[in-house]
Amino acid sequence: MITGKNYIGNQLKASGTTTHKTVNPKLNVQNPTDFYQATLEEVNEAVELADKAFKVYRKVSGEKRAEFLNAIADEILALDTELTDMYMLESGLPEGRAQGERGRTIGQLRAFADLVAEDQWRNVTIDQAIPDRQPLPKSDLRKTSIPLGPVVVFAASNFPLAFSTAGGDTASALASGCPVIVKSHAMHSGTGELVASAIIKAAEKTGMPNGVFSNITGSGRVVGSALVKHPKVKAVGFTGSIAGGRALYNLGTQRDEPIPVFAEMGSINPVVVMPNVIKNKSAETATTYAGSITVGTGQFCTNPGLLLTIAGEDTDAFVKDLAEKTTAIASQCMLHPNIKEGFVSNAEIVTSQPGVEVVGKIEGDLQANFAPSTICAVSGAEFLANPKMHTEVFGPFSLVVKAKDQEELLAVIDGLEGQLTGTVLAEKEDFDALPAVTDALQAKVGRIIFNGVPTGVEVCESMTHGGPYPASSDSRFTAVGLGAIKRWVRPFSFQDWPTELLPSELK
Ligand code: NAP
Repeated sequence: MITGKNYIGNQLKASGTTTHKTVNPKLNVQNPTDFYQATLEEVNEAVELADKAFKVYRKVSGEKRAEFLNAIADEILALDTELTDMYMLESGLPEGRAQGERGRTIGQLRAFADLVAEDQWRNVTIDQAIPDRQPLPKSDLRKTSIPLGPVVVFAASNFPLAFSTAGGDTASALASGCPVIVKSHAMHSGTGELVASAIIKAAEKTGMPNGVFSNITGSGRVVGSALVKHPKVKAVGFTGSIAGGRALYNLGTQRDEPIPVFAEMGSINPVVVMPNVIKNKSAETATTYAGSITVGTGQFCTNPGLLLTIAGEDTDAFVKDLAEKTTAIASQCMLHPNIKEGFVSNAEIVTSQPGVEVVGKIEGDLQANFAPSTICAVSGAEFLANPKMHTEVFGPFSLVVKAKDQEELLAVIDGLEGQLTGTVLAEKEDFDALPAVTDALQAKVGRIIFNGVPTGVEVCESMTHGGPYPASSDSRFTAVGLGAIKRWVRPFSFQDWPTELLPSELK
């Protein structure tokens, strides 16, 4: 049952008076529960508890941490329809998505459990001593990875489960040995509280120290800023807007003791459609991309917001077909009134720029939070001259750039900011032109896709979900997949240490 309170370790607390409610975006009405914003004393208490818990939790064996992560997965499953009903109520997303995202969340938890049950993930290296080396003896050096300390995770609005309370950031941080304090997302605080209750139950059942996990509610930036500035917080995970991620990154790096803030932010995910695809596969490409642009009402960080083509009559026909197919897909509900507002105002920024043609847009009276899917087009020259067209329009929106030739297309890619993904759609006849396109994209993105769609992010060892700024604040790391654990650890070396005193992975 939802209480609207904060989990400060295993205690439910609500000593403040500021409250907010979540919204049912389909009906455009507020949901009944009042969620109590944590007070600054409660924020402090959660971090102090996490710091205390860290001293114990960092030494809990990998096997026990795996037990904890698997228990979280079990407790989330045990919430059954109470959780999926709350998810749908607060997000407007359909039941299939709720179940799919829960499956992904559980899969991530179990994958990290499997990873840390053994110690290989610590990237151990051993350099044995050479006592008789000349001119100086060589010491015995053994390197492992150790957890950083309490981590703050900002739940993402667009993945109430898989990138939120028990999502990839939390799963990877807990797996590494770091306690986690979640800043719940104000748009899905009920979903967050239910998942938090599952984590607390799992922690109690598996004997984890109190404070290994807290869930804190707030809106209006106060709670989030206080968490990032707290001296005992040692790292931050974030998914959301560029403005939010950048503000938190600045806060984290301007502290007396700067800390890493791993922010995954905006991306418009360029898709290069090569000429022979437009010639041979125009209709099927338009169908596939109408689906990718509108899936999840376009509210994915990997949504294809920018299609890059070479101008011509065939291209015009392709864009028209894409617009017809995209707008033929019924308008769907967005996550929250603020997201809908952001969609409308950012779409307006792009479509009001000189040279931008709206090729297709769902018109007419739509329900309050439903999105008018939009496809527009612009010439390569106009795009190159105007960075406002690079604005992320979070939702079912795509801008097609028609470059006059391959050289201009490459210049367009060179002028882009960092992105999570880049996609190339090509036929065999296009292959000669691909190395230059691939090189240009590689400088800008974290993952490159051939003849596919960028939406749909596999959770596995080889996934990179990150990219040059502003796709993420540190392109050396991934936020999805098992590699995500590397964000929460630091290398640590033992020199000439007695074997019996070494951690087991270094013996
Ligand atoms: P957001 O505004 O970035 O907020 C996400 C979280 O960060 C919230 O918990 C918010 O706290 C906190 N936050 C933001 N700015 C902060 C600041 N200056 N100081 C302290 N805390 C701060 O993102 P959103 O609410 O999820 O969505 C807004 C827009 O972000 C969307 O319309 C979309 O354009 C974009 N977005 C992009 C992606 C992507 O993957 N590319 C994903 C989600 C959203 P409070 O609630 O306390 O303000």
